[in-house]
Amino acid sequence: MSNFEKKVCSFCGAEESEETYLIQGENSYICNNCIEFCYHMLNKHTLKFDDEEIDLSNNESEFALDITPHEIYKKLGDYIIGQDYAKKVLSVAVYNHYKRIQNNLYNTSDVDIEKSNILLIGSTGSGKTLFAKTLAKILNVPFAIADATSLTQAGYVGEDVENVLLRLLQAADYDIELAQKGIIYIDEIDKLGRKSDNPSITRDVSGEGVQQALLKILEGTVANVPPGGGRKHPQQEFIPFDTTNVLFICGGAFEGISDVVNNRISKKTIGFSGKSAQTKEEKDIYRLISHEDIKEFGIIPELVGRLPIIGALEMLTIDDLVKILKEPKNAIIRQYQKMFSMDNIELEFEENAVYEIASEAHKQKTGARGLRAIIENVMLEIMFDVPEEKDVVKCIITKDVVLGKGKPKLVKSLAA
Ligand code: ADP
Repeated sequence: MSNFEKKVCSFCGAEESEETYLIQGENSYICNNCIEFCYHMLNKHTLKFDDEEIDLSNNESEFALDITPHEIYKKLGDYIIGQDYAKKVLSVAVYNHYKRIQNNLYNTSDVDIEKSNILLIGSTGSGKTLFAKTLAKILNVPFAIADATSLTQAGYVGEDVENVLLRLLQAADYDIELAQKGIIYIDEIDKLGRKSDNPSITRDVSGEGVQQALLKILEGTVANVPPGGGRKHPQQEFIPFDTTNVLFICGGAFEGISDVVNNRISKKTIGFSGKSAQTKEEKDIYRLISHEDIKEFGIIPELVGRLPIIGALEMLTIDDLVKILKEPKNAIIRQYQKMFSMDNIELEFEENAVYEIASEAHKQKTGARGLRAIIENVMLEIMFDVPEEKDVVKCIITKDVVLGKGKPKLVKSLAA
């Protein structure tokens, strides 16, 4: 019995079901999944027709670099407070990365610009993920995040490195050309080091295996990505994914790195003058981090070599945290104000209330990460009670409210 008589997709063999519907041709059927797949394929590739190569690409996903490092830096400032040094490093690095893609695409000279992935070093909540995410937003390229500690080398239980590419492909809505120019952020790269202090982590060996697997995709390879997600791809078990132009940003806290840097510097100084160098301030230390210091953390030299750009983030000060609460486009306080405005209530935070929230987060040493939890705790009762009150037009949060010692000031409409 032919596929036509059987009423199944003539391409992938799928039967008709609630999710799969078939379109009938003269003597064949095609299912919606295959149509979608072909659409993506034809949209992006050339088609051989009667030995003639026809370019079917609509060039939509071709990357046109029309932004300068200054503009990238300025746009980063809409979302990210402080971290001036890292902003500059990343603006230049990202600009060069996409210039490199253009150069290699239309290269007429014999100079190939090498790929420069980025290593971001900074404590928890200092904005590493935010940087990577914001860059993708500014450049309008797909973005995916992975946690290095959840990755395993092939054959081990856990997530294969290739799955990270799948996530990027999904973020690009299966547009492979676009995905291949996206940004991947790999967090906690420092935890893959062999010299883990934590004896309960028994992954030292596979840690190095993961580093090797990461090395491959970071330096540029054609990886086989399992389509996953239950999507059918006829006659194809894997999607070839070229990582040559993917920008990888790896991040980690590298706890204790200032000691490593200080040690290195003082050793060098002793060598030259017989005197030990003065210990540098934390802020200056971050800018002195070298690839040697990263190797000390057990990151294999080849991987370190593939991360030539180091962007160091500073510890956020209380003043930075105050600004983070108020200034970015999607600042937490603005979000609460928006929510209250939907009930026609103006929400105001007194200056010292904001300062109190920021200094509490600073004490917790979780950077800006702690801010939301603190403010949510403060606002819970208020958001529970205020909608019950009649004619409230304004709600003022004071320092006492933040300290749990008072109620917010409620202003009622004069008409009440
Ligand atoms: P990390 O990846 O360094 O641990 P994240 O980027 O996840 O930190 O930041 C945690 C939270 O704090 C996010 O909601 C982020 O928006 C906010 N945040 C962190 N640093 C900054 C910053 N410099 N400016 C604005 N918001 C920030």
